[in-house]
Amino acid sequence: MRWQSMLLAAATAFSGLVAGMPILDPEGFTPYARGLEELTLFSPGCSIPDFWRFITRLSHNAEIYFQGQNKFNTYSIRWSNVGTPKVNITILPATENDVVEIVRLANGCNIPFLAYNSAHGSITTLKNMSWGILINLRKLSGVTIHAANETATILGGTNSKYMIQQLWDAGYQAVTGTCECVNYMGPALGGGHGWLQGHYGLIADQFRSLNVVLANGTKITVGPDHELFWAMNGAGHNFGIVTSANIKIYPKIHTTYAIEILTFTGDKAKDLYEAAITTFANQPVEVIQWSYWMNIPQLDPTGPIIEFYIIQEGVTAVDSQWTAAFYALNPIAANPQTGSYLDLSTWLSINMDGPPCQKTGMANPRFPLYLESFNATAMEEVYEAFKAGTNSSGPFYNSLFMFEGYSMQGVQAKNASNAAFAWRNDNLLVAPLIQYQPGNPALDEAAKQFGNELRQILHRGSGRTEMHTYVNYAYGDETPEEWYGHESWRLTKLRQLKTKYDPNNRFSFYGPVN
Ligand SMILES: Cc1cc2nc3c(=O)[nH]c(=O)nc-3n(C[C@H](O)[C@H](O)[C@H](O)COP(=O)(O)OP(=O)(O)OC[C@H]3O[C@@H](n4cnc5c(N)ncnc54)[C@H](O)[C@@H]3O)c2cc1C
Repeated sequence: MRWQSMLLAAATAFSGLVAGMPILDPEGFTPYARGLEELTLFSPGCSIPDFWRFITRLSHNAEIYFQGQNKFNTYSIRWSNVGTPKVNITILPATENDVVEIVRLANGCNIPFLAYNSAHGSITTLKNMSWGILINLRKLSGVTIHAANETATILGGTNSKYMIQQLWDAGYQAVTGTCECVNYMGPALGGGHGWLQGHYGLIADQFRSLNVVLANGTKITVGPDHELFWAMNGAGHNFGIVTSANIKIYPKIHTTYAIEILTFTGDKAKDLYEAAITTFANQPVEVIQWSYWMNIPQLDPTGPIIEFYIIQEGVTAVDSQWTAAFYALNPIAANPQTGSYLDLSTWLSINMDGPPCQKTGMANPRFPLYLESFNATAMEEVYEAFKAGTNSSGPFYNSLFMFEGYSMQGVQAKNASNAAFAWRNDNLLVAPLIQYQPGNPALDEAAKQFGNELRQILHRGSGRTEMHTYVNYAYGDETPEEWYGHESWRLTKLRQLKTKYDPNNRFSFYGPVN
């Protein structure tokens, strides 16, 4: 066999370099040999000895897996399974320098590559990756606190829950995503929303400097004086792999929280969001309001229920000022809770055990839209459309509609032109999440139409001509303007930076600016 003899020859030739080699899976020699041969077929410019040489340059704890190995599947599984990337080799770098080596190999051999973090990215532009190297960052995990200047260094693959706990135990907090299973960096690259954004700004607003491996395989530090600093705050997926970030942290002062979870039947949709418009007209920094729509037949077999969450910081019970108008609408259930910052994710079912944190093999595309405020008439209309499209006999029954009303003071305190994130004046992030069994192109198309129909109802209700969307929730059929801003200078600037730092579009799979 060609691959056996070549690999053995390569192994012999480089046997002097084998000491300290990365972890090769005990599942055996064959998948490696087959995988390496496959890569040389795809990239004829590189030989098996080239790959072997590369492998010996990785650190001892790096890991490499090919198709056919269980761990290849484990480390390439995604949260949403429509429009997914295809990869042939999974490498787990164990050091920041390993990322440099992988990108250099990929460049030298002209192999596409893609950073994977917690793999919650669901944008369908990822399907444009049809082969190549998956760089799974999970081993780049760590939090180092620098108390003297209230910053922390977060490695590029660090999980949010782990990070929050590490900081909390040391007496600190930071702006992170809300969901425990998502990593820190994935949300941050698109701006990033979190519980503390009302106080301190977006997740990316906390960056002090970033270590970034550029498309040409060099690692640079991007600080406030570097031109990429602007781009990494909102369009970061396009410019490099962040191996670590130095971020601002804060003394732990936002600790006590209370929530009211009020459940309504869908016939209340219009009244409920009218009440929300009035109640949250001047939403203070310590109040957050979310709602989910979903089918829970035990509560209402006739249509999705509306679960309305009112969160208040610094109290043991949510002040009636924020709840009275909703209680007046006679919720079918009311569930007040008191606890700490660490309880928020459990209350919202986005803790490690919560349904959104499970990778169940389903397709989970979202169709996001930023809004300035609710339009109660449009909310009633979109409720009816959501109800019709998620009926129990259809394929989208387990879908979810999310309405996120974080406090915005910290986000709006930053000059909008100082970051690529373009949507600081939008108070609400809404998105239907259409869940279904993947593998049927007709159903993919139906889901796309359904999600877009729902989004369009709210867009029409906004009275805007241009859609504003969150690239981190995007479906993938939005325009770059709809991800990165309609002011023409924004995309012009992003594209100039792209030409300078990634002329060959190596980072082109997630929400490409071009
Ligand atoms: C359950 C759930 C909860 C969520 N909660 C929040 C939330 O609270 N706040 C919020 O703002 N968003 C949230 N999101 C959206 C989230 O920001 C996006 O889904 C994001 O893409 C997830 O990042 P990831 O690393 O898990 O995804 P991945 O699919 O692993 O990564 C997405 C893309 O990011 C890039 N990437 C990831 N890591 C790096 C890195 N270190 N360097 C360079 N590029 C990198 C790659 O291009 C990759 O394709 C949530 C999503 C889900 C599914």
